[in-house]
Amino acid sequence: MNLHVLGCSGAIAAGCKTTAFLLDDDVLIDAGTGVGDLALEALARVDHILISHSHLDHVLSIGLLADSVMRLRKAQNRPAIQVRALPQTLAALREHIFNGVIWPDFTRLPSAENPVLELLPIAIGDVLDLAGKRIEVLSAQHTVPAVGFAVDGGSAGWWVYTGDTGPNPALWRRLKDMQVAHLVIETAFSDEERQLARISRHLCPTALGNELAQLSGSVDVHITHIKPGEMEAVMAEIGKLGTPHRMQALVAGQVMNL
Ligand SMILES: [Zn+2]
Ligand SMILES: [Zn+2]
Repeated sequence: MNLHVLGCSGAIAAGCKTTAFLLDDDVLIDAGTGVGDLALEALARVDHILISHSHLDHVLSIGLLADSVMRLRKAQNRPAIQVRALPQTLAALREHIFNGVIWPDFTRLPSAENPVLELLPIAIGDVLDLAGKRIEVLSAQHTVPAVGFAVDGGSAGWWVYTGDTGPNPALWRRLKDMQVAHLVIETAFSDEERQLARISRHLCPTALGNELAQLSGSVDVHITHIKPGEMEAVMAEIGKLGTPHRMQALVAGQVMNL
């Protein structure tokens, strides 16, 4: 399996796209602005979308992608793209995005019988089988209902994505029983903005250090969701944590082999 980082920034600017990961060519994990870098044919090959939570930086490309690929997928007789998220996240998408005001209801287009999108609920602890790829739904602690995802890389170990989260003891309890090869974990704010991190339920470097102290061994840790312009400050603070893990900033365009 290949995991292609399409976007990993906490906001947009030139060269900075928000969260989206493409697993092989058919499973999208989060649908931030990074999705827009895929060619039309590549967009049309996405059969599954997993969404961590309802915030705009993670969902805004669902509807845009649906609009882009609707004709091509119909011509190719492809089934609806299956969008999976927590029930509360799906309800938010229906109410606030696919409501005919912000965007058309692509769960009923081009026809109610054969729509381009299908919304399917997931729960924490579910183990999904998507085109032969095993993906477990992990807990997250954010201001809205949220999850993370773990992709089973077999003997290569798990690729784990925390989603947007503040401190999350349940995650570390679960990861104790997993061989984690890659941990993609957010650090949305610098320590200077630790108050903002706390109330928005994100991590800052100090909080990240407390979290990583609960992860045994020495793991490849990839920092995601840093705001444009904050990269150097946040990574400098992370460099001083003295953790046994191998710390690096996640980079858009990066491909990980799982
Ligand atoms: Zn969020
Ligand atoms: Zn976010």
